[in-house]
Amino acid sequence: MADEIHEECGVIGVFNGNKALDLAVLGLHALQHRGQESAGVAVSDGRAIHSYRSLGLVATMARKTKRFMELKGHICIGHTRYSTTGTSNLINSQPILIDYKRGQLAVAHNGNLINADTLRSDMEEQGSIFQSTNDSEVFLHLIARSKKPSLVEMIAESLKKVKGAFSLLFLSENELFAARDPHGVRPLCLGVLDKKTAVVASETCALDIMGARYVRDIEPSELVCISSKGIQSFRFAPPGKKAHCIFEYIYFSRPDSRIFNHSVDRLRRAFGHELAREHPAKADIVISVPDSSNTAALGYAHASGIPFEIGLIRNHYVGRTFISPAQGDREAKVKLKFNPVRGVLKNRRIVLVEDSIVRGTTLRQLVSLIRNAGAKEIHIRVSSPPIKFPCYYGMDFPSFDELIANNKTIEETRQFLGVDSLGHLSINGLRKCMQEEPNNYCYACFSGAYPLGALKTSKNIFENRKKQRT
Ligand code: SF4
Repeated sequence: MADEIHEECGVIGVFNGNKALDLAVLGLHALQHRGQESAGVAVSDGRAIHSYRSLGLVATMARKTKRFMELKGHICIGHTRYSTTGTSNLINSQPILIDYKRGQLAVAHNGNLINADTLRSDMEEQGSIFQSTNDSEVFLHLIARSKKPSLVEMIAESLKKVKGAFSLLFLSENELFAARDPHGVRPLCLGVLDKKTAVVASETCALDIMGARYVRDIEPSELVCISSKGIQSFRFAPPGKKAHCIFEYIYFSRPDSRIFNHSVDRLRRAFGHELAREHPAKADIVISVPDSSNTAALGYAHASGIPFEIGLIRNHYVGRTFISPAQGDREAKVKLKFNPVRGVLKNRRIVLVEDSIVRGTTLRQLVSLIRNAGAKEIHIRVSSPPIKFPCYYGMDFPSFDELIANNKTIEETRQFLGVDSLGHLSINGLRKCMQEEPNNYCYACFSGAYPLGALKTSKNIFENRKKQRT
């Protein structure tokens, strides 16, 4: 994706590892794509939990500072997060660790709640004091207030009260808990490293790097407790209608992961195949907007018979923290990130495969780079339908007004981008790729049909996020 949108998080948990912290950090590296603005870990040695969080990449967090090196223990949870910029947002990074009546508890959350505002203001009315502004702290307050006799029951009771998307990890002094909302919006999987070590991660690519074996997904509405007693499974609510995020397959998850029981690579290729069927083009080569569109572009090339070429090189070393010297100098920003391969593009008719279009402004600059490199024709093919609606379940899309599909028709967008043709994969095409289970997915950012309901205060939230970004 040329435009930047942000996944809200990746989570990792390791139980009973000799080097639990090292393993968790390895896993977090594999989940870096799910959040690059802060990273954190919480580690228990069976007596106490200590945490360390920092703004920036996992590598920044794991540099050998004294505080990081002092972390010790055999149970660990970790988190990568997209947050807004500014040092004050360290407070919003995760895991969040609290002391409460039963000891200590830390949480790491991927997703977004749709009733967090209501729950939070009710609790604030009753005197609760929150240390952060993120949804995830609500879980800890609910648990701390529970009068149930055991921690697993306290967590289960709390999970019943929240609505929205959550793939969660909790860490107590001696237990690791994993839970997923009843609709299974975000992925979460369970793996084992050896007979005594269990791991939980947002995506299977994190298991691979740790050398762990995938066992199964954490089921929707399942609460798993991993302790010295082994792995115990509970249901905190009846499973709801499945609503896995289709965008995980389109863009967010890594193609080497298996999520929601399918290979991301296989489905992303299928989207490219279907796109070629729906929107054929007369062209000499297929290129992608690297890296997230590579797999769909391969699918398009395979289905169309047009050869795939590497026409754009992405600079992987330009961090998101880079601030353009001149505000609005988008071209300079795009040039920092992408460079065209002139020998590949010159005098060629090009299909440029992109996984999604958000604002379209960056893609427009990319088109201009490709034109300047001598391309004869540019045909953009997008492996997702136009994004017209915000996501309330964990993706930070821009506001309604900023989404290009809300302001322009396909033809107007084509003109705005300055390309010869533009085609999007249809919702039906996307559903077709999901074969026997198209109804198990959320397509709300394309259709506006929100399977878990919408967030009433969304406009304010988007406005706040916009303000915080600037
Ligand atoms: Fe995923 Fe879009 Fe649904 Fe959000 S609205 S959960 S991004 S499919």
